[in-house]
Amino acid sequence: MRIGIDLGGTNIAAGLVDEQMNILCKMSLPTQSERPYQAIVEDMVTLVKGLVNMGNISLSDVRQVGIGCPGTPKKETGDILFSNNLHWHNVPLLAALAEKLPSGIHWKLDNDANCAALGEVLAGAARGSRYAIMITLGTGVGGGIVLDGQIYDGVNHAGAEIGHMVIVSGGELCTCGRKGCLESYASATALIRMACEAAREHPESMLASQETLNGLVIFQAAEAGDSAAKAVIQQYLFYVAEGITNVVNIFQPEVIVIGGGICAQGEKILQPIRAQVAQAVFCKQVSVPKMVTATLGNDAGIIGAAFL
Ligand SMILES: [Zn+2]
Repeated sequence: MRIGIDLGGTNIAAGLVDEQMNILCKMSLPTQSERPYQAIVEDMVTLVKGLVNMGNISLSDVRQVGIGCPGTPKKETGDILFSNNLHWHNVPLLAALAEKLPSGIHWKLDNDANCAALGEVLAGAARGSRYAIMITLGTGVGGGIVLDGQIYDGVNHAGAEIGHMVIVSGGELCTCGRKGCLESYASATALIRMACEAAREHPESMLASQETLNGLVIFQAAEAGDSAAKAVIQQYLFYVAEGITNVVNIFQPEVIVIGGGICAQGEKILQPIRAQVAQAVFCKQVSVPKMVTATLGNDAGIIGAAFL
């Protein structure tokens, strides 16, 4: 048995996972990230004990507890060097957990986007592939790179930041301080920004009559034939495909997995992305990777963490 914990900015989700990568039971608690880290550690201990109870096993049956967390972990020491979402700086996470649960548990730590990518490779949309890249289109643009079955994150574990490659030189200001990053054009936040701009320019559009704009509403408007919404989505998917083309040219993976709320649109987003990437990618005459949407949702992070 293994336990995977997805420590997010909103919730701490944990699952008991068997060796066949099935999640047997799940629990979660609100993160309340404004609390001191010790309180969050306390809740993580509660979740581990709760899952052990629910699974009717003992702590000694748990061979590994893996944690996926936002930010930059130092895997060798189990410290979180920096996490913007949690407002953490040099937090000795694994040491604090091991002190509360001194049971010989094997603890593992990695970035949440890397855990999600590993989860999709092991048990989801990229199952069976050894070279896969996951791009998560959410509030930001997350990246997870799996090369030869292993997470690749650079010498300092801060790599795989696919969202922070510039695709429009001198473009929109990004959260990282640069201008024109993929994140500023391919995140859900960017889609909404583009839709707001279109709504101002086209007062006749359905986009202009919405109280609040979100990804779903924009896709629904396009589906209903709204030309401003269609143009926004076409432009948005162009940027997504530009980013994917860059990634394919560098890594040539077997599979590109697209995650985030927008992946619920399935083939509607995949078809135009595949078409653009297939005609733009460097070695198109040789091969073009499969492009699929994520299938595990939030469970990817739990399964990936459990099998770090
Ligand atoms: Zn950036």
